[in-house]
Amino acid sequence: MESKFEMTIGGKRVEPNQYTAIRNPATGDVVGHAAIGDITHLDRAIAAAEDAFNTWRWSSDLARREACRAIAKVCLDNAAELAGLLTLEQGKPLKGLGSEFELAGCAAWANGTADLSLPVKVLQDNEAGRIEMHRVPIGVIGSITPWNWPLMIAIWHIVPAIRTGNTVVIKPSPFTPLSTLLLVRLINEVLPAGVVNVISGGDELGAALSRHPTVRKMVFTGSTVTGRKVMASAAASLKLLTLELGGNDAGIVLPDADPKPIAERLFWGAFINSGQTCGALKRLYVHDSIYREICDALVDVASSVKMGDGMDPANALGPLQNERQFKRIIELVDEARASGATILTGGRPRGHGYFYPVTLVANIEEGTRLVDEEQFGPVLPIIRYSDADDAVRRANGTEYGLDASVWGNDQAAVDMVVSKLEAGTVWVNKHAEIAPHVPMGGIKSSGIGVEFGEEGLAAYTNIKIINTTF
Ligand code: NAD
Repeated sequence: MESKFEMTIGGKRVEPNQYTAIRNPATGDVVGHAAIGDITHLDRAIAAAEDAFNTWRWSSDLARREACRAIAKVCLDNAAELAGLLTLEQGKPLKGLGSEFELAGCAAWANGTADLSLPVKVLQDNEAGRIEMHRVPIGVIGSITPWNWPLMIAIWHIVPAIRTGNTVVIKPSPFTPLSTLLLVRLINEVLPAGVVNVISGGDELGAALSRHPTVRKMVFTGSTVTGRKVMASAAASLKLLTLELGGNDAGIVLPDADPKPIAERLFWGAFINSGQTCGALKRLYVHDSIYREICDALVDVASSVKMGDGMDPANALGPLQNERQFKRIIELVDEARASGATILTGGRPRGHGYFYPVTLVANIEEGTRLVDEEQFGPVLPIIRYSDADDAVRRANGTEYGLDASVWGNDQAAVDMVVSKLEAGTVWVNKHAEIAPHVPMGGIKSSGIGVEFGEEGLAAYTNIKIINTTF
C-alpha cells in the first residue's frame, strides 16, 4: 500500500510541506502518512470549489444524478482497497458490521440520494398569478467529519451537496484522514475538477474552514462541544448549518418484552463499531420484573462475540480508535465500579492496542458519569426502573436528544412511551436503523437540522420564489 496520502484540490493531487504518521489502533503500526495542510491549502481548496461552483450550479438534474451514481460505483469498484485502509486506520473489523459494511453503506447512500428529488412546487396558479418555489444551490459547502464512520459520513456530506448543485471542501478527522483522502482522490476521477476537494490537518483547519467567508454552509458531524464552536465561527458570515452532534440514546425495555429474542438486537444496537456510534444505545432502562433475565441474556450474547484485530475475519469488534477515547472508557468504568455498580462482564483493558472488552454494568443509575455522559465505547449501563413514566422522565433527563428505542409487545404501552420520548428518532424493538430516504437528526444539544430524505436534501438548497403575473 502507498505510504503518502496527498490532498486533492481543484482535481489535482497536492503535496503539503509536511506529513504525519497515522497508526493502527489495534497494533500501533504506521498505516500511512497523511498530508498536513495549512491555511494556504484551505484558501486554494475554497477558491477551487468556488470556481467549480460557477459551472456545477448550472448542471442538469440528470448530470447531478449521474455524478451521485458514479460516486456509488467508485465506492463499490474500490471497496476492497478502501475497506482495508479504513480497518487499518480506524480499527473496525473488515467483515460483519465493519468496513465492508461501511463501503456498502456509502454506495447505498450515494444511489439513494441520486433517487431523491426536489421538484418545483406550485404554490399558487390562478388569475392573480402563478407562484413557484424552486430549490437552488447554496454555493461552497464546508464539511467536517469525525473518526468513527469516516467514509460513510463523508458520503453523507458530499453526495447531497453535489446532488443539489453545490461544491465541497471536506476536512476529515486528524485521527482517520487516510481513507477520506483516498476516497476523494478516486471520486475526482469521475467528477469535474474542483467539485469535491479535500484538505487534511489539525483541528485549526476545521476552525478556519467554518470561519471562511466564501463558505456558505457548514455541515458538521462530531461532538456537541465542537459543534458549538463551529456555530460560533459560522455566525460572522451567517452561514447555514447542519450539525449532527453527540447523543446519549436511551432504550426502555417494558415488562412484557421477551428477553432472549431481543438480546441480540439490543447488543448490536449498543456495541456496533465498539460503541463508537452517535446513534448507538448508550443507556438501557429495564423493568424490574425482567432486569435479571435481560442482564443474563446480554452477558450470553457478549460471550459469543470476538474482539480483536479488525483484519482477522473472526473478529466482530475492534479496538477503541484512539488513546483519548481508550483512557476515557477506562476512567468511566473505574468510576462506576468505585461508586458500587456491578460489572457483569469485561471491565478492564486487555492486551496490546486500544482494546477494551465488551462491558455490561448493572446496578447503576443517574449521577454516575457512565450514565450521564456519552461514553462512546463498548460499555453499556443497565438501569433498573419500576414505573414507565419514571423511566421516560429519566431517559429524557439529558441535554441530548438524538434517538431512543422502546422494547415491548403491548401496543398501548409502547405507544405511550414512544409519544413521550424526546428524540429525533424513536425505534420500536430495534435500535440504530437508518436509511437514505428517512430524515435523521437530533434535537436539543444533539444537533440542528436533519440529513437524508427530501428534508435532508433541501437543507443543501436555498428557496427561490418565482412570482409571476402576466
Ligand atoms: P470532535 O468534535 O472532536 O471532532 C470532529 C471534527 O471536528 C474533527 O474533524 C476535528 O478536527 C474537527 N474540529 C475540532 N475542533 C474544531 C473547531 N474548533 N472548529 C471546527 N472543527 C473542529 O468529534 P470526534 O471525537 O471526532 O467524534 C465523536 C463525536 O461525534 C461523538 O460525540 C459522536 O456522538 C459524534 N457523532 C455524531 C454523529 C451524528 O450523526 N449525530 C455521527 C458521528 C459522530
